[in-house]
Amino acid sequence: MAEVLRPAPRDRNDFRIAIICALKTEFDAVEGLFDHFWEGDQKYGKADGDPNAYSTGRIGEHDVVLAFMPGMGNLNSANTSAALRSSFGGIRLGLVVGVCAGAPYTPEKDPKEIILGDVIISTGVVQTDFGREYSDQIIIKDTLEDSLGRPNVEIRSFLRKLSGIRAGKQLREGTYSYLLGLLKQEGYEAYGYPGAKEDTLYKSEYRHKHHAPIQCDVCSKCENDWDPVCTTSQNSTCAELHCDSQMLIDRQRLQQLRTGNRSDKLYPPPGPNVHMGRISSAGQTKKTAAGRDKLAKEKNIIGFEMEGAGVWDNLPTVVIKGVCDYGDSHKNKNWQNYAAAAAAACMKAFLAQWTLADRDRSEVPLSNLEKRDVYDRIQLTNPSSLHNTASVLYEKGTGEWVFRTPEWDSWLSKSDKRCLWVHGVPGSGKTVLMSHIINHVEHSCNQTTNNGRTCLVYYYCYFGRNQNEVAPMLRWVISQLSRKADIISARVHALVNTGIEPKLSDLLDALEDTLRAFDKVYLAVDALDETTHIMDLLNILYALATENRFQKLQLLVASREYHDIERVIKPVCISVSLSNDFVAEDIRVYLESAIQNDRHFSHPRWTSDLLQLIIDLLPRKANGM
Ligand SMILES: [Zn+2]
Ligand SMILES: [Zn+2]
Repeated sequence: MAEVLRPAPRDRNDFRIAIICALKTEFDAVEGLFDHFWEGDQKYGKADGDPNAYSTGRIGEHDVVLAFMPGMGNLNSANTSAALRSSFGGIRLGLVVGVCAGAPYTPEKDPKEIILGDVIISTGVVQTDFGREYSDQIIIKDTLEDSLGRPNVEIRSFLRKLSGIRAGKQLREGTYSYLLGLLKQEGYEAYGYPGAKEDTLYKSEYRHKHHAPIQCDVCSKCENDWDPVCTTSQNSTCAELHCDSQMLIDRQRLQQLRTGNRSDKLYPPPGPNVHMGRISSAGQTKKTAAGRDKLAKEKNIIGFEMEGAGVWDNLPTVVIKGVCDYGDSHKNKNWQNYAAAAAAACMKAFLAQWTLADRDRSEVPLSNLEKRDVYDRIQLTNPSSLHNTASVLYEKGTGEWVFRTPEWDSWLSKSDKRCLWVHGVPGSGKTVLMSHIINHVEHSCNQTTNNGRTCLVYYYCYFGRNQNEVAPMLRWVISQLSRKADIISARVHALVNTGIEPKLSDLLDALEDTLRAFDKVYLAVDALDETTHIMDLLNILYALATENRFQKLQLLVASREYHDIERVIKPVCISVSLSNDFVAEDIRVYLESAIQNDRHFSHPRWTSDLLQLIIDLLPRKANGM
């Protein structure tokens, strides 16, 4: 077991990679390659109603969750992956790992042999309906061509990288070394290489049925591909049926394995080749060599399995499967264990090259419509009408005094305190002033050319709502920032995905996530005193103003001068009172201009001495009003 350096995931949303297996033998092979299991105190549980059983742990540097399907087929894999997504909201990559049937050759002009035990990595999944293998209505879900299914740039570019010479070599070598490691483990004795002699590819037209000298009424009448064979033959081995070795197709790679003094049952086994290409994902259907060849030729299919398409609809998917038969009537189960081991080894080599993305790229892949739905469900209270009303009431020229204060400079230059508290007596015009400051800061954010990485979000508390404004405020801010960044992080998605009211700690975690998309966020909150449960709001603002994880926040809050507020806020804030000389000056400027422009004051009874007296006296008596 490798040493675990990074801390365990905090919760289920920290998992990025899911592995899904249909067979016990596949599941066991994958578990054998875990470097560490999260158990005991680090059990992560699952969402209500999720029937899946999970193993969680670490493979290489990745935290992974492994799900075991209740049965084979796309219906099971669709249900399993949908439930998995409800429990693990941050999954970015779903790997379907196990065994499949392989086409004998790759579709290139210069075809390469695919032999049993090779591994296929899907670049796309072609869904063929149940029992309709010959149907022309084949749905293609192609990662590379985007013809259908979830477009995922991350997977597409990664697969392109893997198809390069150097990355491909690493993948092959990694696969081989993990495979050898797994086969040496206790409990995996039955997973060894079955031997080149057991790898038999018959000519496509040669059926698996009773052959001479065995007498069989049904099988003897079978001449074409669609003629029936007897039930006994379907459950018998080629040796029992006397399938003719003269009808085998020569395989270059197997001949090489058989040459020399090496015994057929090689140990160590030959290194599996890794092929990248399209996989057909079908319902349970009778496989024939003719059907296989047709799909291989017409759709460039190299692998045939039954689970990939079901997962595809729920998660960004890559299918990694070991070839255990050739998808014809001659198939047997000798190769299942070894092919499952090879696939699991390839999965681990695949993950070794899959980069652990920066946390701020840990977004949940959603369509624009889905994103809008999430934004709407996150926000509870929309304060924009209050902001718009206050902005309309603003008198041009007033409020400019704020930007001349040393406190403003100090706040902007982000001294030791990153919160500015504007306070005043009731009726002093705090809200109108705040709306002006908000518009001013927002304007300068838009002027800066840093790709929107600096922005402002505001919230107005309002007594008329008679509510505790903490959660509505946080939810509004999270939805606004997610919208601006066009990213929904796993934690943000989980807020509305679980169906239960998020805890405050969840909201703060989600806010922390959304901040990753920005260099600086100005958060303006007006009228702190108008919330119910004011201590809740003050405690949250205190956390936002002091905790390191929120250091990208520049806070701007406004309220009346209540003792409670002052006690909590003042120690961590730069404070600006509306009763100050700058305001008096502001009022004087306003009066002067009003008197000059208003014809009422041109009446002779307003002597210039009287007017001067008003201009001098009124601002001083106003005291911030
Ligand atoms: Zn028969
Ligand atoms: Zn046979």
